[in-house]
Amino acid sequence: MAINREWHALNKLPRGATLDERLTWHIRHAANCSCRDMPPAIKRELEARGLTAPTPRSLK
Ligand SMILES: [Zn+2]
Repeated sequence: MAINREWHALNKLPRGATLDERLTWHIRHAANCSCRDMPPAIKRELEARGLTAPTPRSLK
């Protein structure tokens, strides 16, 4: 699991972020960094909205 420190430094998820902000952050995070998996609750919400999240595996 590689962490993209530069991306994290530039993309901090604020405390009290809304669900929409968290979903957007996790989509972008999954595309830019593989330090951790997307939480199941986020995956479920994306699926419920008909969005697909890129996985680290699909990007390699
Ligand atoms: Zn990361």
